[in-house]
Amino acid sequence: MRTVELIERKRDGAEHAPGEVRWLIEGYVAGRVAPEQMSAWAMAVVWRGLSDAETHELTQAMIDSGATIDLSSLGRTVVDKHSTGGVGDKTTIALAPLAAAMGMPVAKLSGRGLAHTGGTLDKLESIPGFRVGLSVPELIDQVARIGCAVAAQSDDLVPADRLLYALRDVTGTVAAPGLIASSVMSKKLAAGADAILLDVKVGEGAFMPDLDSARGLAVRMRDIGVRAGRPTVCELTAMDSPLGAAVGNALEVAESCEMLAGGGPADFRELVLGSAARMAVLSDLDVDLEAGRRLAERAIASGEALRALERLLESQGGDPRLAERPWDVLEAAPVVHAVPAPRAGAVALCGALAIGRAAMRLGAGRERKEDAIDHAVGIVVHAKPGDQVAAGDALAHVHARDEAGARQAAAEVLAAYSLVDGPVAPPPLLLETIG
Ligand code: URA
Repeated sequence: MRTVELIERKRDGAEHAPGEVRWLIEGYVAGRVAPEQMSAWAMAVVWRGLSDAETHELTQAMIDSGATIDLSSLGRTVVDKHSTGGVGDKTTIALAPLAAAMGMPVAKLSGRGLAHTGGTLDKLESIPGFRVGLSVPELIDQVARIGCAVAAQSDDLVPADRLLYALRDVTGTVAAPGLIASSVMSKKLAAGADAILLDVKVGEGAFMPDLDSARGLAVRMRDIGVRAGRPTVCELTAMDSPLGAAVGNALEVAESCEMLAGGGPADFRELVLGSAARMAVLSDLDVDLEAGRRLAERAIASGEALRALERLLESQGGDPRLAERPWDVLEAAPVVHAVPAPRAGAVALCGALAIGRAAMRLGAGRERKEDAIDHAVGIVVHAKPGDQVAAGDALAHVHARDEAGARQAAAEVLAAYSLVDGPVAPPPLLLETIG
């Protein structure tokens, strides 16, 4: 096979013959296919797409490029949960201990944030001493001992995706449903879970801006999971506003503790409880959605969910006092500015993208992979679409390292809001469930 002929075939809209996609991936990992050739192929895929057969071959070739994790020694049905990423999405930090408290084992491999979306690992690293670098045996041992672990993906898991994703990131070729589906699902399948819950974010703060494109991606990812014999359910959830109130690493950890203690913003709480119930249905607990939700609510009300978080913290090097008193442990930002409402009205928009970017410029996220993160800074939004505010009410608070940063972020946060006369219906969070 000649690489250039395969690129031309995809460029001209043809479907690859069986074996060709695998040949390209194996060649790229081995250095036989050059990065510029792989980039050209990825761009051809952006324009021409991948058939289902090509997507499956790509997924399997990426899985076969590295190690896989075998969780069968746990002797349980392990359900993995993955979000395609958004602003204020701290779900894993609350959901992993909650699921463990409900009796479900959770072995979660998480990622870092890029651009305006945050990453679970960065958030967890705002907890002094917390170790995200667990080896696979450590991960499995911890899940067997305390029911859950949240760690970084090791380098030998799906190395082809790591290489291809780095290339796509800098060549404008991320946004292809076949490439995203195979990238996400190759990592989920290699990580060894028996069933998968995918939270596909939809809206201006997400990869998928509209319901149609999110639905298309969800169907592809579900199809890959089901074909691999792993039941997969996709929830499409709104990402036009930040999830919950906190955006920024330590702030989001604190909000997760609050949620596990029975409080927290209503939308975040609803998402976590709903996901916990869905995971319970996919697990071996033998419950339906309603019974799963009751289990989740009981785990919170009894304090078991907070105890599970304490065990997770203790096992991975964090201070367990964080669960009950997060601000005794986390670093708070030195400058906090309110963003007052310029008029009375109903909130029509609290733009996730603008808030995410403002938090990133404060230092909560990174523009390039090598950038350092300021864990203390961020934004807490108090008014969300549908809320009524009076003139002068705090729409949000900006948590900054210095006065200049706070002033700039406050202006950006204000611009992210739209206030109108008359009532605004609060938008739904769960838009659709597939599978
Ligand atoms: N997340 C991934 O893991 N891969 C993609 O391609 C996009 C988002």
